[in-house]
Amino acid sequence: MSPLSIKDVIATAPRPFSGEASKLIMEAYVFAEAAHRGQKRKSGEDYISHSLHVAKILSEIGMEENTLVAGLLHDVPEDTEVTLSEIEKKFGSDVALLVDGITKLGKIKLRGSKEEYYLENLRKMFLAMAQDIRVVIIKLADRLHNMRTLEHLPREKQERIARETLEIYAPIANRLGIGEIKGELEDICFKYLDPIHYEETRKIEETYLHEGKAYMDRTVAFFHSFLAKEKIRVTDISGRTKHLYRLYQKLKRHDMDITRIYDLVAIRIIVPGIADCYEALGIIHREYRPMVGRIKDYISLPKPNGYQSLHTTIFGPDGRILEVQIRTKKMHDEAEYGIAAHWLYTEKSRSIWRNIFSRQKHTVVPLKELTWITQLKEWQKEVGRDDKEFVEGLRIEFFKNHIFAFTPKGDIIELPEEVTPIDFAYAIHSEIGHRAVGAKADGKMVPLDYHIQNGQVIEILTVKEKKKPSRDWLSFVKTSTAKSHIRHALRHHENEFGK
Ligand code: MN
Repeated sequence: MSPLSIKDVIATAPRPFSGEASKLIMEAYVFAEAAHRGQKRKSGEDYISHSLHVAKILSEIGMEENTLVAGLLHDVPEDTEVTLSEIEKKFGSDVALLVDGITKLGKIKLRGSKEEYYLENLRKMFLAMAQDIRVVIIKLADRLHNMRTLEHLPREKQERIARETLEIYAPIANRLGIGEIKGELEDICFKYLDPIHYEETRKIEETYLHEGKAYMDRTVAFFHSFLAKEKIRVTDISGRTKHLYRLYQKLKRHDMDITRIYDLVAIRIIVPGIADCYEALGIIHREYRPMVGRIKDYISLPKPNGYQSLHTTIFGPDGRILEVQIRTKKMHDEAEYGIAAHWLYTEKSRSIWRNIFSRQKHTVVPLKELTWITQLKEWQKEVGRDDKEFVEGLRIEFFKNHIFAFTPKGDIIELPEEVTPIDFAYAIHSEIGHRAVGAKADGKMVPLDYHIQNGQVIEILTVKEKKKPSRDWLSFVKTSTAKSHIRHALRHHENEFGK
């Protein structure tokens, strides 16, 4: 395999760069290559290969040219003789501010207890994010390439970096809606943190896919002709399998029984418009019986990170259970590229993007999709730079209506605020919800309608035998997941046993 070139980096962008932008990116490459010359990565490769890979990831998700330039230069001030002011002179203040932001973000030190450490890191990410979200996106690209090449580091470093990535970077990629980066980060972390289960999951998937792959290809072809016959306009149909880490999380809850995972194979149907999504769903349901409780309309009710799609699980061709996801091309790109996709779809998008993040006073164009970032910046202006107050407020703003709670094993569960241990239990799994009898927050017993605080470790006490949820729970649970599971279980119970 020939080494990555700057031409590849530029060519990989989903929307071609202008001649001017390409020239700027080339110049940054020449500059970075000269600065890093003679330095080697732990893998033995020239250091510049890291900078190129970081820039390539940024190019893939459609970032604008200054972000790529800063990606190429991101390790220059820290690791070479060249200073930030030289970068500013050559590439301007926008690039210099980005590079400075990444350098500062790189100085995170591990300290204190786990939660304290987590919040401290989150705090720094918030600060960077409020200053310029591009800094965080470059940092994610940097981390992703470092994770891809983690094999060259000593064992204990691998573990520390993988843990930090799983706790800080993957959730942030998720919050920014960059599904591809989140999925890959989690899978690499999984491999280093839990190699035994990683292997086990990989083997299960491999065995299953051996027979599943042919089925998937057949099903994709079948849906093509089926939807064409029904005169549904289709842009693309593809099959996908689950990321390994997510798959393992599910397998754990189902006794490692892969036949009980219904969304292992999913068919993605991309259609031109929103109306086509619902039409396709209707046609599919007419032909194939949907599974109760598994039809999800994330178009009317997007996920907190903005994800939109219709999901349904059907008893599909050959009687196999199959998840079907239906969405428009725009929704699809947003799911893959997250926040970066928002301006792929905006007229004059690149300049608007720059305006939002430029430090000039009157150029802010409030894009609907980017309101939360704009709010963040507005708010920052009002409060000024008082560190403590700023961070406190940011936490509230950025995760408005959101908290993070931990399982006793340290898994992070993101939930709306004022949720109860019952919501938490159902967020993990419906059976844990049904069987819940008590809860502890940070080791202390709390009532089931307790309001969970951000950062708490929540332990759900359950009974072994099957049990139906209590009807009272409906009066205090907050999430729709919990509500629908409880209602469904109660209904099911009544049908089976009479009132
Ligand atoms: Mn780096």
